[in-house]
Amino acid sequence: MKKHNFSAGPCILPQEVLKKSAEAIIDFNGLGLSLIEVSHRGKDFVDVMEKTRSLVKELLNLPEGYSVLFLQGGASLEFLMTPYNLLKEGGKAAYIDTGVWAAKAIKEAKLLGDIEVIASSKDKVYNYIPKNYAVPTDVDYVHCTSNNTIYGTQIKEFPKTDSLLVCDMSSDIFSRVLDFTKFDLIYAGAQKNMGPAGTTLVVIKDEILGKTGRTIPAMLDYQSHIKADSMFNTPAVFPVYVSMLTLEWMKGLGGVAAIEKMNEAKAAILYAEIDRNPYFKGFAEKEDRSLMNVTFNLTNEDAKEAFDKLWNAAGISGIKGHRSVGGYRASIYNAMPIESVQVLVDAMQELENQLS
Ligand SMILES: *Cc1c(COP(=O)(O)O)cnc(C)c1O
Repeated sequence: MKKHNFSAGPCILPQEVLKKSAEAIIDFNGLGLSLIEVSHRGKDFVDVMEKTRSLVKELLNLPEGYSVLFLQGGASLEFLMTPYNLLKEGGKAAYIDTGVWAAKAIKEAKLLGDIEVIASSKDKVYNYIPKNYAVPTDVDYVHCTSNNTIYGTQIKEFPKTDSLLVCDMSSDIFSRVLDFTKFDLIYAGAQKNMGPAGTTLVVIKDEILGKTGRTIPAMLDYQSHIKADSMFNTPAVFPVYVSMLTLEWMKGLGGVAAIEKMNEAKAAILYAEIDRNPYFKGFAEKEDRSLMNVTFNLTNEDAKEAFDKLWNAAGISGIKGHRSVGGYRASIYNAMPIESVQVLVDAMQELENQLS
């Protein structure tokens, strides 16, 4: 039986994307060769890279002047590449601490310079997005995390700054309409909303690079990758190909605006049930709730065994909460059908029927 996959990452991908990817593993473009055994410099794969890049630009509505890269090392390597490329020698950067991923970004950046944490929600296990903090003007950049995968919080109002704005969008890229030109650098590991683990999408405003005075190792220098069209070394051909298929699927649905509407509808039925059902309570503050990761707890831990039985029997997978939060986390990324969300809502209602 095909499961309802609520995993936080790697996450659900569209069924048709999985099918086409499986076919390309056996025979890519009718070449009689597998996608993963042809040269990345051959025309067929170069076309894949170009198409993937142009789909990203189209879906994010990016004007000229931005480069789109597909790198390796995950979002975690971007925690280091960002300061390497943007933090001036002796410079300073501001970070917003909204969770474990933000904290890891801060830790890496501190290896290279003076990092000021200008706001944090650590005092309440990161269940909210800090607001009304002062943004210093003497920084090279401001770094934020748009969606906090573990806690189920999402930034609705981004920091206002005249410095560069950098954002880790790993878990909500392509899920909602934003003015992406407000950001100077965006990065996102593929495995939350775009493809398999193994490639990281990086979107950079070209004019911001080459200004730090640092010597940057070639593999960590965005300019090396831009010059080589993301083929400075062998790219992650399979993750890039699957990402291309997912982006085509998104475009076919009507692009990010259409997907956002679907995501809102999915989140609405689940949050409504959490708020209605006396056996559940939401973890994140209401105004900061994420459209992608819905975190909730039981109001009475004694109901755990009964609920776990119910969702298991319904074919649901991957809703166990992160160990730092406990409870449950239903990740409802772009490819999650609303029918699967309804299956979860039904299981929650069934718990209420059983216990009351
Ligand atoms: C998963 C995640 C990361 C880490 O991504 P890797 O690709 O595993 O390095 C970073 N930031 C956020 C917001 C994430 O959800």
